[in-house]
Amino acid sequence: MFRALLLAPPGAGKGTQGERLAERHGVPHLATGDLLREHVSQGTELGRAAKEHMDQGGLVPDQLVISMVTEALGGRDPVENFLLDGFPRTLNQAESAYEWGRNKNRVFDAVIMLDVPEDELVRRLVERGREKGRSDDTEDVIRNRLRVYEENTAPLVEFYEQRDILLRIDGTGSVDDVTERIESGLSPLIAD
Ligand code: AMP
Repeated sequence: MFRALLLAPPGAGKGTQGERLAERHGVPHLATGDLLREHVSQGTELGRAAKEHMDQGGLVPDQLVISMVTEALGGRDPVENFLLDGFPRTLNQAESAYEWGRNKNRVFDAVIMLDVPEDELVRRLVERGREKGRSDDTEDVIRNRLRVYEENTAPLVEFYEQRDILLRIDGTGSVDDVTERIESGLSPLIAD
């Protein structure tokens, strides 16, 4: 069984580590940011509703994101195991996901939190903005995304700590080192 979440501020390496972990464990990597960007580029109704929030570095309204995720996990093509990346980002989303998981027998096994100091986050994001041209990787929007993380998402650390599934990982250093730290932290929490 592998049902894990990645909880980390923008720039901490969620996307990179998420892809690796999902591949290693043979589970789908569900990144809400990627799913939303796809909706935006396809001009769907959800994409049109999400775009403005994303451009400003704010959060897309809970209800839209919750329906998108529960559809991806339990809709027409339900998945047993998964790595969620970038969701939940608010207490409201976490509570909905928790309820949903209990009802559908898909309780999360582990929440991986990547710890990276703020100046390192800003440095990485500015660099990514230059390399990949992501429209929300400009300095102003980056600062806003970090503030939004502190306000809305950081409180989830306590939520998952209380449920005994939080794994705190030092997210600095090489990509390989971080992956190894995650794997060794995960093994006691994930039953194969
Ligand atoms: P990310 O690729 O994870 O950095 O997400 C990019 C943007 O998508 C965020 O800045 C939000 O605007 C939006 N987003 C992604 N996941 C969520 C979520 N769980 N709740 C609300 N907004 C989200």
